[in-house]
Amino acid sequence: MALVVQKYGGTSMGSIERIRNVARRVAKTYDDGNDLVVIVSAMAGETNKLVALANEMCEFPSDREYDVMVATGEQVSMSLLAMALISMGYKAKSYCGFQVPIITDSSFSKSRIEEISDAKIREDLKNGTIIIVAGFQGIDREGNITTLGRGGSDTSAVAVAAALKADVCEIYTDVDGVYTTDPRIVPEATKLEKISYDEMLEMASLGSKVLQIRSVEFAKKYGVVVHVRSSFNDNPGTLVMKEDADMETVLVSGISYNKDEAKISVFRVPDKPGIAALLFSPLSHANITVDMIIQNVSHEGYTDMTFTVPRTDLKKALKIVEETAREIGASGVVSDANIAKVSIIGVGMRSHSGVASKMFQVLSQEGINIQMISTSEIKISCIVDAKYTELAVRVLHEAFGLSSSDVAVE
Ligand code: ADP
Ligand code: ASP
Ligand code: MG
Repeated sequence: MALVVQKYGGTSMGSIERIRNVARRVAKTYDDGNDLVVIVSAMAGETNKLVALANEMCEFPSDREYDVMVATGEQVSMSLLAMALISMGYKAKSYCGFQVPIITDSSFSKSRIEEISDAKIREDLKNGTIIIVAGFQGIDREGNITTLGRGGSDTSAVAVAAALKADVCEIYTDVDGVYTTDPRIVPEATKLEKISYDEMLEMASLGSKVLQIRSVEFAKKYGVVVHVRSSFNDNPGTLVMKEDADMETVLVSGISYNKDEAKISVFRVPDKPGIAALLFSPLSHANITVDMIIQNVSHEGYTDMTFTVPRTDLKKALKIVEETAREIGASGVVSDANIAKVSIIGVGMRSHSGVASKMFQVLSQEGINIQMISTSEIKISCIVDAKYTELAVRVLHEAFGLSSSDVAVE
């Protein structure tokens, strides 16, 4: 008998009929003789609606109340799934994050899981109950409801699998695996049979939302093998696992894009020690993550700084940066939300040269201007005008020989 953790995403839970389909799949796994813990997302579109409601109420909703609100979507879907299973004659029980409990830190809307208590789950499993846990949510040590950031149910699933030392962690979604790029943009994308934690981490952090980045960090840290599959068919999916020798032979394994960032430039910043700290510390105190940073060469004691922040934090970030800019005597601040980051990823890049120049050449042949560049040993990212995103992804996918034709997208 194995202990299986399965996670079903928003599209898979998107209607009563789809929840019945999930219930049938869960029942089959149970009937095959497995213990089963199921993590669910809110029904498709529900979290967006809740976020919109909060933003309609006020420009900067209270962080605590925002989490109380957006966590509710999962409470609906978990109980619907439990009802479906019970009506089919199974023992099933749903739990909110705070009932497990899944303990997190207190950084509302981007909380990190710190501890999961397995006592209640294990007791229920012993008497043959199928456990359903709300994804995306937890509770901090002061008793406040917290959420894990958009797409956070993936992280709930992997963390629960790690805490229970589950034999299998399956993430069921609306595509049948991880592809060389988003198959909705490039229909010729190729499904990967397996991908290393590091490549998946880069893909997730560079915008491929098929898995939330923290879920991959958890998987890597605790050695959880994650199987990404479709809830609409029985195709074998993609295994996210430790790097092996085959993976290094592939130069570029994937292309990601991210349209969720915005660029901020600060002009004529005095070029002296401590200035970067003055500029970025208030952003970090406000829990705003800064991604790419470019500092121009100094000219007559002044420099220009450009960096990117999540687009949802742009208003908040601008307010902070404008204040700091005034304090340090910079001449002005401008922002641009019409940007996209396009990245190529592959562990094979570590041992090959010429990948960056090929990327730049391919983009230039299409007349796409590169505004910012950043690299690590296994990825290269370029910021381009948002209107070129799809074109850039398509030409890079083609140029690095990643195309095939067997995509199954719901
Ligand atoms: P869920 O609601 O099941 O969590 P998501 O929408 O969060 O599903 O993630 C699945 C989506 O991720 C797919 O529909 C696909 O458009 C997108 N995606 C982006 N990049 C990739 C990729 N490289 N491989 C597969 N899917 C990807
Ligand atoms: N419902 C949440 C969201 O839409 C969490 C998730 O689906 O993983 O972001
Ligand atoms: Mg998701």
